[in-house]
Amino acid sequence: MALSLVVPIFGPPAAGKTTLTLRLGQAPGRQIFRLREHVSKEVLAATATSSERLGWIDEFTVAEALRSYFEAAHENPDVHTVLLDNFPGSASQVDQLLTTLWTLTPPCYIEPIEVVTDIKTLKQRAKTRKVCHRCERDPISDPRLPAIPSSQDPWQCAHCGGLLHPRRGDSPRLLKARLQRYHQTAAGIRAGFTDSGIAVTQLDTTNTIDGAADLLAPLLISRSRSL
Ligand SMILES: [Zn+2]
Repeated sequence: MALSLVVPIFGPPAAGKTTLTLRLGQAPGRQIFRLREHVSKEVLAATATSSERLGWIDEFTVAEALRSYFEAAHENPDVHTVLLDNFPGSASQVDQLLTTLWTLTPPCYIEPIEVVTDIKTLKQRAKTRKVCHRCERDPISDPRLPAIPSSQDPWQCAHCGGLLHPRRGDSPRLLKARLQRYHQTAAGIRAGFTDSGIAVTQLDTTNTIDGAADLLAPLLISRSRSL
């Protein structure tokens, strides 16, 4: 087994990217890449200071993170598929990703997925989703992974019993800024792939994210076997 399939998953905030990657990433041989887990605390802290810089990480850091991550994944005999949660976030990150992947031999198949849903669903999801500061020790105390509430109390973590919180970036002001930025960058991300001859698949998560994951699962299996 060798790395044969890379699945960049991008889309607007609260569309279900993380839930989707968690669902699909559990199968053996698959790994999930989240950029912020591969950059220093200092770089992360600098991204949190203003809504303009929200989540913005400089190109040098991105290039280093991609190179070291994919070199290791490529050497790892237990990994055949990497899912990229919320990456790339810009046209230049598409270029950086493709430059990194094209150095790998044998080459891997690249299957970008754009998660789409309507604005009403995005706002509703952003309003209801919660995170757990105890279960997810984020370096800058900005946890992102969806927490499961207990059956008795929607604000209690089913896993640790601690108090759940809204995600920092889901506050109405930050969500608006993140949605605007996504709409400014999405066309460039799509073009970055299609200009390189790589088709982008749109996946609608409006009904359920689990249903969308079920639609995508067979595609991932067939692609990871096609090389
Ligand atoms: Zn917890």
